[in-house]
Amino acid sequence: MESQDYLSGLNPEQRQAVAHFEGPILVLAGAGSGKTRVLTTRVAHLIHEHGVDPAAILAVTFTNKAAGEMRGRIRRLLGTEPAGMWVGTFHAIGARLLRRHALALGWSPNFSIFDSDQTERELKRVLERLGFPPKKWHPQAVHSAISGAKNQLVDAPAYAATAADAFTRVVAAVYPEYQRSLREQNAFDFDDLLVQPVALFEGQPALLGQYRERFGFLLVDEYQDTNHAQYQFLHLLATAHGNLMVVGDDDQSIYGWRGADIRNILDFEKDFPNARVVRLEQNYRSTARILAAANAVIAQNVKRKGKTLRTVAEPGERLVLVEALDERDEADWIGGEIEARLRPGSRTPRDFVVLYRTNAQSRALEEAFRRRDLPYQIVGGTRFYERREIMDVLAYLRLISNPRDNGAFDRIVNYPRRGIGDTSRTQLLEWAASQGSAPLEAALRADEAPALRGGAASALRGFAALIQRFTALASHLRVGELVEKLLAEIKLVDALRDEGPEGDERIENVRELVAGAHEWDARTDRNELEAGEGQDATALDLFLQKVSLLTDVDRHDPSAQAVTLMTLHNAKGLEFPCVFVSGLEDGLFPLARSFDEPDTLEEERRLFYVGITRGEERVYLTRARSRRRGGEVLSSVRSSFLEPIPRELLEERVTPALQRLRQLGEVRWRSGTPDRFGGFAGERAAVGDVSGVYLDYSEAQEAPRFIKGERVRHPQFGRGVIRELTGLGRELKAVIDFEAYGRKKVVLRYANLQKEL
Ligand code: ATP
Ligand code: MG
Repeated sequence: MESQDYLSGLNPEQRQAVAHFEGPILVLAGAGSGKTRVLTTRVAHLIHEHGVDPAAILAVTFTNKAAGEMRGRIRRLLGTEPAGMWVGTFHAIGARLLRRHALALGWSPNFSIFDSDQTERELKRVLERLGFPPKKWHPQAVHSAISGAKNQLVDAPAYAATAADAFTRVVAAVYPEYQRSLREQNAFDFDDLLVQPVALFEGQPALLGQYRERFGFLLVDEYQDTNHAQYQFLHLLATAHGNLMVVGDDDQSIYGWRGADIRNILDFEKDFPNARVVRLEQNYRSTARILAAANAVIAQNVKRKGKTLRTVAEPGERLVLVEALDERDEADWIGGEIEARLRPGSRTPRDFVVLYRTNAQSRALEEAFRRRDLPYQIVGGTRFYERREIMDVLAYLRLISNPRDNGAFDRIVNYPRRGIGDTSRTQLLEWAASQGSAPLEAALRADEAPALRGGAASALRGFAALIQRFTALASHLRVGELVEKLLAEIKLVDALRDEGPEGDERIENVRELVAGAHEWDARTDRNELEAGEGQDATALDLFLQKVSLLTDVDRHDPSAQAVTLMTLHNAKGLEFPCVFVSGLEDGLFPLARSFDEPDTLEEERRLFYVGITRGEERVYLTRARSRRRGGEVLSSVRSSFLEPIPRELLEERVTPALQRLRQLGEVRWRSGTPDRFGGFAGERAAVGDVSGVYLDYSEAQEAPRFIKGERVRHPQFGRGVIRELTGLGRELKAVIDFEAYGRKKVVLRYANLQKEL
């Protein structure tokens, strides 16, 4: 293929960026302007036009899927596989490096990767060991503190030096112990995949030198969401030659809460004073109206570079702003709208995505879609690999791959049941600790343990021998075959069958895992196995690595004929003809916790900008008047994010259910008792059928709406903060902490509350 072919479709600025050869380059541009396209095209151009060896290229993409697309493009262009090129997420690239050099750090190449669940279990054990009750010091909170520190490249001693209060002192005590226990189990956690490569390079200048030589060209997509560890990793590799291309959009930085540092992109020109900066100002994705709405929203942010983004596209349809009664009505309306637009030959289910701020919102949507028989796929939420039965099989595989994985041992030592009770297990663990050996190792010699009963000891020995046998098999069997043998051996299907109908579903899932393993075997080329990751890793090690590094978005199948449901965070980089952004209510989107924090509020707004700019042709913005959240019904206010969107860009609609309510006009009082959520069953019925139902939807609903956490003023009690809201309409009540009078419950209809600004 001639280079003209792939260059000709580009605009002059894009072409300039693609043709850039050596030296640092920043592509800073708004959504849909072709940044990702420029990055992938430039990789092809480097190889095709400048004769760069694919093995000299390291490209970081945000999802494994984008990585696959890049490979595909190059394969089509060159007619061959770009052998030796490293493309993937930061985590995948880190894991690959660690497989090669684990020994230098004190780990062995068959290390396990602990996901957050395993990490938190391990932290719980460490907390218990150190005498900190996990009920008081939540493993999750400790995890997030350690993760934050790691991503700032703060190690345990440095953390301890700054620990100032009770919580940070607990974390300071746990951190080194946790790290020690990871090493003992030959495991890394997720953050280690970013942090340990930096430690590796910093500790081994000669090795760093080799990689600097090797990777002559580095390219990074979504650079605005890199954290300090990722920044350091790139800079260690790139500073010498400066051949670093970063592309991104400061307006789409949405991972600050997880340690991403927007300054990395804003300061690129300071880090590389000779950097070339390319701005792309033409949006190719969205209609003019969608783009105008997105621009109006993001213009509200103060902390931004400011960019121009224009389009030559048609004005398109107006954005539809929808008001619904509650979350069920909202979901139902969305389902109905999609259904009405499905027509063979025009729109199909995969043209639609429904975005939401929190995973919990997917429930109402799923129900609505099921009622309508609309096919859908959820990205994120409860994942396949987090199901109990799948985690059980994976625990076997992890233990087979890494006999020092204690969490895995603990999970399956007596599953399916083999007569090893809790007492025997504790005795074994204590004995193992006293011997300084891993539990599996100790189990092999269980008959030497004085405290263990004979029966338990022989069961433990049998279990350990089984794992050992499979470890030997794993060195030459393919993964699918290995899993099948294992399942037959442990009779898992029989055990699940005993669980009744629920067990049947679990059996199906296990079968899916087997199929997945076979598929992985078929896709994974032996050469890749041997060349890529070092000779010491088995196919099983790499399969497990693949499983732990799958991101939510990687599980999204864009070719499936189904509507996609996902959080706004997961939608980054994607595009769809029709987009619904749901739950546009203050307190939900933006989330309540962001109100007091200008930086967080700006990040929420960027998330909204990301949401709108996913849309190509149609964007719907929906909200509900009341919503069940955490077991209570909260009355809600329209999101303040909607305000800056010029009215002429919007077409406002209400759902039929809400319209019927309005037509009923003035409230007709009805008898009825509030259900346990404080709402009225009658309103629920009103969604489907209004006739004969008396509703209590008073004007009080139209009066100022309040949300939890809001500051208010009461004529008599003075200033206070709303702690709780219950009931609807005339029955809306608030629990308020008043500064001068303490906690009181007031009925809003009588209280004449004012918002305190
Ligand atoms: P985001 O900020 O959302 O990640 P982006 O800047 O990475 O967006 P791309 O995803 O690369 O943008 O491109 C957006 C869409 O525009 C894609 O469908 C892409 O194929 C298309 N596109 C990009 N450049 C051109 C061009 N010169 N001509 C036609 N279509 C283009
Ligand atoms: Mg992109």
